[in-house]
Amino acid sequence: MITVEEYQERVLDQVRELAPRRVGVGDAHGLRLAEDVRAVLAVPPFVNSAMDGFAVRAADVASPPVTLPVRGDVPAGTTAPTAVVPGSAVRIMTGAPLPEGADAVVPVELTDQPPGAVELPAAVEVRRPVTAGAHLRGRGEDVRPGDTVLTAGTVLAATHLSAAVSAGHGELLVHPRPRVGVLATGDELCPPGVDPGPGRIPDSNSVLMATLVREAGAEPVLLGTVPDDPARLLEVVTGALPGLDVLVTSGGVSVGTRDVVKAAFAEQLHFTAVAMQPGKPQGFGLLEDRVLVFALPGNPVSVMVSFHVHVAPALRRLVGLPARVPLGTARAGVDWRCPPGRRQYLPVVVEDDGGPVPSVRPASAGGSGSHLVASLALAQALAVVPEDADAVSAGDEVGLLRW
Ligand code: AMP
Ligand code: MG
Repeated sequence: MITVEEYQERVLDQVRELAPRRVGVGDAHGLRLAEDVRAVLAVPPFVNSAMDGFAVRAADVASPPVTLPVRGDVPAGTTAPTAVVPGSAVRIMTGAPLPEGADAVVPVELTDQPPGAVELPAAVEVRRPVTAGAHLRGRGEDVRPGDTVLTAGTVLAATHLSAAVSAGHGELLVHPRPRVGVLATGDELCPPGVDPGPGRIPDSNSVLMATLVREAGAEPVLLGTVPDDPARLLEVVTGALPGLDVLVTSGGVSVGTRDVVKAAFAEQLHFTAVAMQPGKPQGFGLLEDRVLVFALPGNPVSVMVSFHVHVAPALRRLVGLPARVPLGTARAGVDWRCPPGRRQYLPVVVEDDGGPVPSVRPASAGGSGSHLVASLALAQALAVVPEDADAVSAGDEVGLLRW
């Protein structure tokens, strides 16, 4: 057996950050930005009106009421607005470029004109003065070309994407989501929601693995289930590899007579006993020098634990994040047993979580068995108990792995 740390090192040694890629802003949501984004355009890109009203020279309306001839109309999107010559006005809409000659906008509410969709009047009576610069949005008031709009490492949300577009970008350089194939093995598996019949069980690992992959920010690729037939497994994996960065399989890695993953990949992957419980039998390696393969044991609790302890750190490194996240601490709320010589990862419920050190208790009343899949639903974290302990007593400090 090797320690958890030795195994993690062995895995992480093989993991290289995926090359950043340019994607359209519409596909960038939730991805991490790989470089600072600087403005190409000023925001706003040109001087424009902040109100629906009339573009004027402030000097012309200094002593209201003043009636000015209206020389033209400037809706938003106008490219060559009619100029404002001295003693005249041009009707203007919010967001439209300020005509040459004008230095202010009089809101429609400060004139004799009704608001809304009305014909262009021949003249407008301005009833209040405005100062030069009034109701204008200056070019670059928000951002000037060259200003940093977003910083590398930002996880892109709606507002980041709209800021990038306003500043002139249609594509962004991001860390791509790792594409993670998910494959369950076992003759006993049947699809979700189907009566399994005698001797068979629902394949709960496929949805477990796919969802853990998604929760980790990667993209699951569902490869379905394969029976305990090494030839069939090889065929499915070979076909899937070109579209994958990572492959996660469940089952078939221990010492049974029909351990299919071990049989199919005896040469290409390393099968190791890791000093942890659950999750002792693990397989790992690179296929085609590129695709990271995690062959996890079949028990659903082992899958969940192995994912958080071995797969998630690799997925983080693939997108340029630190692989390891520090463990929290918790206090055991009750006594429980643990296996000497192996680090225990026990699914727990977290209680009185408001305080500095939360209290935890096993999520399953039935003990820590790795087959207790239904009570896994109660688990909120994993309690981590060192290898040298054979029991935990209420009040003992334990590690806490959250996701
Ligand atoms: P294995 O590692 O293939 O020997 O499987 C260990 C245990 O996990 C057995 O009890 C299997 O029936 C169970 N198991 C394997 N694969 C799955 C799966 N996809 N969904 C639910 N349970 C599974
Ligand atoms: Mg099996």
